[in-house]
Amino acid sequence: MLQRLVFNRLLQQCLWGNPEPTRGLLCRFPTGLGAGHGSAWHRSKSTAVPDARERTLVAVKPDGVQRRLVGQIIQRFERRGFKLVGLKMLQVSEDLLSQHYCELKTKPFYPSLLRYMTSGPVVVMVWEGHNVVQTSRTMVGHTNPAEAQAGTVRGDFSVHVSRNVVHASDSLEGAQREIQLWFQGKDLLNWECCDQSSTSEA
Ligand code: UDP
Ligand code: MG
Repeated sequence: MLQRLVFNRLLQQCLWGNPEPTRGLLCRFPTGLGAGHGSAWHRSKSTAVPDARERTLVAVKPDGVQRRLVGQIIQRFERRGFKLVGLKMLQVSEDLLSQHYCELKTKPFYPSLLRYMTSGPVVVMVWEGHNVVQTSRTMVGHTNPAEAQAGTVRGDFSVHVSRNVVHASDSLEGAQREIQLWFQGKDLLNWECCDQSSTSEA
C-alpha cells in the first residue's frame, strides 16, 4: 500500500512536475505497480484524454540509421494514419539506456545490447493515435526477426535479434515511462492534423 503510494507520487512528479530526479526511481518498483497505475491512470483520464491521444515511443536503432531506413520507417507510421508529435536524433548515453532497458539488466545479452545501442546515433519519435501502442508493436513485429512476419519492420528489414532495427514501447505504462525518459514535455507538440476526423472517430 505504502509502496503504491510512493510510486504514484513519483509518477505524478514525473508526469507533471520535474521528471529528472524521478525517472530512474520509477524503474525500481515492481512492474505490477506500474501496470496497475498505468491502466488506472489511463481509465481515470479516459474522459479527459480521448483514446485518439494515446502515445508511444518508437526509435530507429543504430543499425536502422546506418542502413538509411529512417525515412521508410517514418513513412509506415504516417501511412498508417498516426501523428508524429516528437522527433529527435541523438547519440544515446549509457545512463539513459540503462534506464530505458532497466528490466533487462540481468539478461546475458544486456552488455552487448548496450554496446550496440551506443554504437551510433538513434532517431527517437513519439507517435500519437488510436491504439498506437499495440498497433506499433504489430507493425514492428516479433523481437526476433527470424519469427517476424513479412510486412512488419523487423520482418522486412532484419535477420538477427541483436540487430532488429527498431524499438517500440510494449504497453501503455511502458510508453508513458519511456516518453518521459527520452523527451521533455515541451518537446512534444499538440497539433491538429487536418485528416484527424478521417483516421479516427475522436
Ligand atoms: N535482444 C537481444 N537478444 C535477445 C533478446 C533481445 O539482443 O535474445 C535485444 C533486441 O535488440 C531487443 C532488445 O534487446 O529489441 C530488447 O528486448 P525486448 O525483449 O524488450 O524486445 P522488444 O521489446 O524490443 O521486442
Ligand atoms: Mg521491450
